[in-house]
Amino acid sequence: MENSKQMRGWLDNFNLPHPLVIAGPCSAETEDQVLKIAHELKDTDVTVFRAGVWKPRTRPGNFEGVGAIGLKWLQKVKKETQLLTTTEVANKHHVNLALEHDVDILWIGARTTVNPFMVQEIAEALENTEKIVLIKNPVNPDISLWLGGLERLYAANIKNLGLIHRGFSTYDKTKYRNIPEWQIPIEVQKRFPDIPLICDPSHIAGRRDLIFQLSQLALDLSFDGLMIETHFDPDQAWSDAKQQITPETLVRYMKELKMKKPTYHEKDYRSELEKFRSEIDILDEQIVSLLNKRMGVSAKIGQLKYDNDVAILQPRRWKEVLGNMFLEADERGLSKEFIMRVFKSIHQESINHQRNEIPRP
Ligand code: PEP
Ligand code: MN
Repeated sequence: MENSKQMRGWLDNFNLPHPLVIAGPCSAETEDQVLKIAHELKDTDVTVFRAGVWKPRTRPGNFEGVGAIGLKWLQKVKKETQLLTTTEVANKHHVNLALEHDVDILWIGARTTVNPFMVQEIAEALENTEKIVLIKNPVNPDISLWLGGLERLYAANIKNLGLIHRGFSTYDKTKYRNIPEWQIPIEVQKRFPDIPLICDPSHIAGRRDLIFQLSQLALDLSFDGLMIETHFDPDQAWSDAKQQITPETLVRYMKELKMKKPTYHEKDYRSELEKFRSEIDILDEQIVSLLNKRMGVSAKIGQLKYDNDVAILQPRRWKEVLGNMFLEADERGLSKEFIMRVFKSIHQESINHQRNEIPRP
């Protein structure tokens, strides 16, 4: 991975590399585990060592973190490796303990960002400090909650803020643990271009084989850094085992990832073009996924019509659909002819899907 000259906010002020790489285990498990991973990450592209010591688990009964003792291990990491350290804080006690133990960067987890009371409590505990605070997106795709978190911290005079995109939970079965919904971080980036935006492909993917491609996409979209869960024996990790990679794999990924390094002349054109292309790819993927969902519903309608002896083609309904879409299209500046062509084609495919539902003799 090459270094880009474009920098943002505190990355510049603290003289940190761009893109910033944060890596380390999901959870601190033992002192030996923490130190072993940190030493393997030393002298790589990694600048910040992560390890959760308080783990917000969705269901009780799972490993909930080692607690404050883990902060002592992070202090050792800093001393022995010179890596900066970061951990998750979810209330004022965590904040006070993290400050006492000199953790460099704090992050607010996705399950905390959803709760304005907790974010406010954290903001007050950190008031007027120089700490770098990274806010993960809320678990649900609600941009206001994410922005609200930023605003609460900013109002407490915490100026070194960053955002972490870790995907959003969904009821649908997808290949991701948390769907990326890239348009949300892209929108936040447009509104706050000076606040560094970091991608956490581990929590988006939930599986290690998607981490590289998600990281590359994030860099193509001009993200300012990556947070990647790393463990020397990922399968034996006490939390999030499936989404961690070894330090060795991380080093290989960092070599293979292409970070656009724009020259002055080319900078705007090339990096903007790549960014727009990535945005188009994301939208196209969403179009195909929506079409697939629509065909699934059509197939169910096909079955229902068959069970009730109703004809597949319902001209009145089709006219209604088209009429509604013309209105929608007009409001969005799309031509009637274009919408007609698109929907004729969708309609034809829907009919085919309805026919497929009819049992063959
Ligand atoms: C984590 O980083 O290990 C974590 C719990 O993240 P999130 O808040 O994104 O689920
Ligand atoms: Mn995790």
